Amino acid sequence: MHRATKIVATIGPASSTPEILLQMIQAGADVVRLNFSHGTADDHRQRAEFVREAARQAGREVAIMADLQGPKIRVGKFENGKVTLVSGEPFILDADCELGNQERAGLDYKDLPRDLKPGDVLLLNDGLIVLNVQRVLGNEIHTIVKIGGDLSNNKGINRQGGGLTAPALTAKDMEDIRTAMSLGVDFVAVSFPKNATDMEMARQLANIAGAPYGIKPKMIAKIERAEAIPALQGILDASDGIMVARGDLAVEVGNAAVPALQKRMIRMARESNKFVITATQMMESMIYAPVPTRAEVSDVANAVLDGTDAVMLSAESAAGKYPVQTIETMAAICVEAEKSEQSELDKDFLDRTFTRIDQSIAMGALFTAFHLGAKAIVALTESGSTALWMSRHWTHVPIFALTPRVGSERAMALYRNVTSLHLDTNTDRDTALQQALETVVGKGYASRGDMVVLTVGEPMGQAGGTNTLKIVRVGEPY
Ligand code: PGA
Ligand code: MN
Repeated sequence: MHRATKIVATIGPASSTPEILLQMIQAGADVVRLNFSHGTADDHRQRAEFVREAARQAGREVAIMADLQGPKIRVGKFENGKVTLVSGEPFILDADCELGNQERAGLDYKDLPRDLKPGDVLLLNDGLIVLNVQRVLGNEIHTIVKIGGDLSNNKGINRQGGGLTAPALTAKDMEDIRTAMSLGVDFVAVSFPKNATDMEMARQLANIAGAPYGIKPKMIAKIERAEAIPALQGILDASDGIMVARGDLAVEVGNAAVPALQKRMIRMARESNKFVITATQMMESMIYAPVPTRAEVSDVANAVLDGTDAVMLSAESAAGKYPVQTIETMAAICVEAEKSEQSELDKDFLDRTFTRIDQSIAMGALFTAFHLGAKAIVALTESGSTALWMSRHWTHVPIFALTPRVGSERAMALYRNVTSLHLDTNTDRDTALQQALETVVGKGYASRGDMVVLTVGEPMGQAGGTNTLKIVRVGEPY
């Protein structure tokens, strides 16, 4: 079944064996997220190796995303991995505490006590636990639990209303960027950027750290603080894509504001030719249950209808009981939602002008394929930008992007409605196109007599060189 919307699956303790990873990829994971808020550099190295191996076995490229912790304030670890906080009881957040227990928890951001005053409200674990600050004594924040629950290692802390002071890229992030580049990751997600400058700085660091390995990762801005909303256009311009990071965002701006912001962010990202991931709690109940709630099904479907490139799983696939089933279920919801989605291509194209030749060919190919009833688009691309432009507008015509660059192939794993395939650099143009057509026919997307729209650059092999649009009928000479 063809699925246009991509799935990002976070991996963790529940999904770090080669067997489970292979099953997750076969079930539909397109991008695997390494969460640098948890685990050591060695954990990530091991997981990245497992992912590459599982992808090889599955026979397709899967991208890896390194998600930096950022200046997120978190509790430390607990003696037994977690504690249960009871409403009405006291609880202490202590900057000096090494290993937490029922009475107190450590803090990774040692200056937090200085940022707080009595009356402040702290939200832990994406707002599931609420603490009222009573007083600050030196490095200890004394609170009363307003809403209790399970609190496990390294869960996040937010102040209601936002505005905690902490630098954009921490020393740990800079170290993690170096680790991530040595693993050859394809995407770097930056947590809590406030503005375009934060993203520019992160990109510079990643490019410098990536240079010895020959990689320039795609940069993703996680939109999760109140300050990022008015700065969104600048952040988009400085990034390759964004993540609607609903967990922290909801805590900062209030739950009720998030659905409208999600729609706006997805629209703005696509209009800016950037990709967008919708994240957090999409299938939350499947951490423990083999089926999702009706509300979760609707949430995933609505993100698809909003036009997201990808939907993301966090704890569901990293620490849940059903990582593989969750991906299967999510994939099925996406396929069903896409069926009902109308193309608004003609409306999208009103008042459009293009200055670039490659972009004009991309848009021309999409428009032609849509109105001609072509069964597929085949794009030969170096950087992947042809596929990105085409995928910013929804039509039911699947886009097959062939590239000789493995980095482009993996990056395109995130683009909606794009299937990326490897192109052998030694082949000439006609052989490459012939192979591409055979792939499309072999996968059942087109058969003899069907029209397929092709784009290619002549001469081949130059990024930004797409200048040719060709329409062929399968089985006829061209
Ligand atoms: P996190 O980011 O999972 O790293 O916190 C996503 C979010 O805040 O929604
Ligand atoms: Mn977050």
